[in-house]
Amino acid sequence: MRIEYDVKLDFKDVLIRPKRSVLKTRSEVSLQREFTFKHTQTTWTGVPIIAANMDHTGTFAMALALSQHGLMTALDKFLTQEDWENFAKEHQAALPSCFISCGISDAELEKLSNIMKKVPVSFICLDVANGYTERFVSFLEHLREIYPKTVIMAGNVVTGEMVEELILSGADIVKIGIGPGSVCTTREKTGVGYPQLSAIIECADAAHGLGGQVCADGGCTTPGDVAKAFAAGADFVMLGGMFAGHDECLGEIVEEKGKKYKRFYGMSSSEAMQRHHGSMADYRASEGRSVNVPYKGPVKNTVLDILGGIRSTCTYVGAHRLKELSKRTTFIRVARQLNEVFVPYDVNK
Ligand code: 5GP
Repeated sequence: MRIEYDVKLDFKDVLIRPKRSVLKTRSEVSLQREFTFKHTQTTWTGVPIIAANMDHTGTFAMALALSQHGLMTALDKFLTQEDWENFAKEHQAALPSCFISCGISDAELEKLSNIMKKVPVSFICLDVANGYTERFVSFLEHLREIYPKTVIMAGNVVTGEMVEELILSGADIVKIGIGPGSVCTTREKTGVGYPQLSAIIECADAAHGLGGQVCADGGCTTPGDVAKAFAAGADFVMLGGMFAGHDECLGEIVEEKGKKYKRFYGMSSSEAMQRHHGSMADYRASEGRSVNVPYKGPVKNTVLDILGGIRSTCTYVGAHRLKELSKRTTFIRVARQLNEVFVPYDVNK
């Protein structure tokens, strides 16, 4: 056993120090980024925020709405070939902002291959809870061989050496985050995790050294957190909870005590296991919770709120473009709030 004594930070442990700026208004700030990907050498331009590939947020309705603003969507991996073909037929223009998701089973690879024969999606999201296994790395190498011209985002990991291994094994973008998600219980169930801000800073450094990119996945609860993720060096930011509860999300609106909600659950929660596999295998514990999130109407309002917040962050530090935000950022450590509410762990959640 070994202990690392370096302090590792989360979003709430820091604030961004304001700096002198010549920007007159936040409307002068551009949030568009252009990336050329390491393995494919293809280029993408847009606002690098991605809706998470969860049942609730990784929907075609979300992809359509977000693509209007230049954002991307990772579609959930349970969508069928027919769903993809229908979407591609009617909404060809939105396809370049879509990721198709895949796990590491042979059945999932076969399904992905069948869909890709009919609908050549430009981005694959290879997604597992634990990106540290040999099986994951060899699957990634195999996927890269089959799809040399498709951008592959792979994860999740939280440390620089694994980011390097994944990039050298074929990933263009590495997804960062173990345990920070809003409906994730990995840290409570397993004791495993890494404070997300430090994970982003360390992993971005490793990826950029090799010409790769990182996507910060999980833990953003406010536009300020999204800005901090970019400021820490994230090239892309993936959002689940912040995009939950909208019209474009899966599921009906439910009413409780006069308030409207939508159901949102972790992809390894027992609710997700029941939905997709009929039950939870005995050897696993649920590592996700289910919650009712307040109904928020169309996602457009949330998108504008997030983008407005990040533009304002850029104005505070004098960054004309999102690309400059990280270089212009000095984080200051703040003491944890004294009024932070302690929420007791509830096994039934
Ligand atoms: P959020 O933006 O809601 O904080 O985080 C979204 C991320 O949480 C997802 O992109 C995914 O990486 C992670 N996630 C989703 N469902 C689960 C789950 O059931 N368990 C765990 N450990 N992580 C989850």
